[in-house]
Amino acid sequence: MARKRPREHLKVLLRKSQIRRKVRHLARQIEHDFHGEPLHLVCILKGACIFLADLLRELELPVSVDFIAVSSYGKGSLPSGEVRITKDLDHSIEGLNVIIVEDILDTGLTLNYLYRILQSRKPKALKIAALLDKPARRLKEVPVDYIGFKIPDAFVVGYGLDYGERYRNLPDVCILPAVEA
Ligand code: 5GP
Repeated sequence: MARKRPREHLKVLLRKSQIRRKVRHLARQIEHDFHGEPLHLVCILKGACIFLADLLRELELPVSVDFIAVSSYGKGSLPSGEVRITKDLDHSIEGLNVIIVEDILDTGLTLNYLYRILQSRKPKALKIAALLDKPARRLKEVPVDYIGFKIPDAFVVGYGLDYGERYRNLPDVCILPAVEA
């Protein structure tokens, strides 16, 4: 019997060409806002790593990066309701132009929490770039400056986003139909 192809059950929501165009557009917006000033990108691990890598290479500004990890979703798709830093930044952000780079804004719990923590560390500017936004599920307001795509209330994988650590390597953003968002 032929083996089932692993992507059969996935529905493509955003193709890699669309994502590439959008990331370029976001980079131009950011360059326009920061007028050649140095930028410090803070990537939220792990889901935003692909978005960070693409955005970083599009930006024609002096850019540095750091990484932070938080616990929000467990191994599956259900939010724990609790946000905790599991890996902090390596460097101080005091006096820097910081952009938090996130894969997806869902309930807003993660970014609401991180924004407040990072703001208390006295950056010169603090902005948020999120590739995807699921406004239907928002519980906490978040001041997002750069949004790639508003998407429907579905569980998505690919382009860095996982389900139980799978699917991060897909070039497209896809809906995983069996999972409740
Ligand atoms: P929030 O705190 O806004 O509810 O959730 C943010 C985090 O939840 C994201 O960084 C991401 O890790 C996870 N998340 C939310 N929605 C999805 C989704 O549709 N797919 C995946 N793979 N992760 C999601």
